[in-house]
Amino acid sequence: MVDDGATLGGRGERGVLAEVFAAYAGLPTDGVLVGPGDDTGLLAVPTGRVLATTDTVVRDRDWRDDWSTAQDVGVKVVTQNLADLAAMGGRGTGLLVALAAPPSLPLAWARGLAEGIGYAAGLAGVPVLGGDLSSTAGDAVLVAVTALGELADGVTAPVLRSGASPGDVLAVSGPLGRSGAGLELLLGGVTEARDEQERRLLDHHRRPLTDLAQGPSAARAGATAMIDVSDGLVRDGDRVARASGVALVLDPGAVDRLAGELVPALPLDRARRQVLSGGEEHELLATFPGDRSLPEGWRRLGQVLPVGSDGADAPGVWQDGARLDPATGGWDHFEG
Ligand SMILES: [Mg+2]
Repeated sequence: MVDDGATLGGRGERGVLAEVFAAYAGLPTDGVLVGPGDDTGLLAVPTGRVLATTDTVVRDRDWRDDWSTAQDVGVKVVTQNLADLAAMGGRGTGLLVALAAPPSLPLAWARGLAEGIGYAAGLAGVPVLGGDLSSTAGDAVLVAVTALGELADGVTAPVLRSGASPGDVLAVSGPLGRSGAGLELLLGGVTEARDEQERRLLDHHRRPLTDLAQGPSAARAGATAMIDVSDGLVRDGDRVARASGVALVLDPGAVDRLAGELVPALPLDRARRQVLSGGEEHELLATFPGDRSLPEGWRRLGQVLPVGSDGADAPGVWQDGARLDPATGGWDHFEG
């Protein structure tokens, strides 16, 4: 990021938008009938149904400038949105981007943000349809991305949170706890990775990139319920369990295997805790009929049981006969 001293206020809205849209120039334009530059974009909708989701991130709440670059913020907000589409069995067809910032914000930051958005959108093959620029009083910086999408090829119905049934298998599309572990490293003063593992964890916290095709793959493989892990395995699993009226029972061995991937960057007990409660992971959590094999890359985490069996007397995420607390992501003793 080259800071040439220019600010948003100095360049003016039209000038800033021209610069940031230049960062999206190489993106695919499939389905885009009218792109940026007119009053709205116009997008073709071949399947006749649109998925829509939005996410907003705020400086000093969702990122810190001393830990994350503008590019990092751009990647993260796109991943957050596209993972929500993937969790329905969808794929992105267009992004809308809004930035609200004080006039004193360096133009280089806005450019960097657009580069990060363009990078993540390019990996996913999703065009940017338009954007907005607004100014804030004080020093708040806010980035809002809206993603539009469609159900992917071969996916006839969205995968909801409410479809899990007893007898299903619970699985996750990749590792868990990386973003939380990366944040723990940052909070502990490790801002520069000292080895490859720390680099992966810090990267995943700053700019998570997940395999978004796993959502449609899961849908085609018969996934009965799905969600992206944005708030942690227990919290997001609890949402699926309550929507479906079932108990999700974790296999302690599966949790330990995932935790083992965070060791030695974190000690095993803190690694376990990040697997259970670490947010901003954006891997997908899904349930599959017990008689099917999982799509490639998915890891079995446990099973879906009826409420009332095996001591699981309420919908939720259970392990070792206890319900895990969605507020803390763990057993109460984690908080002690
Ligand atoms: Mg989500």
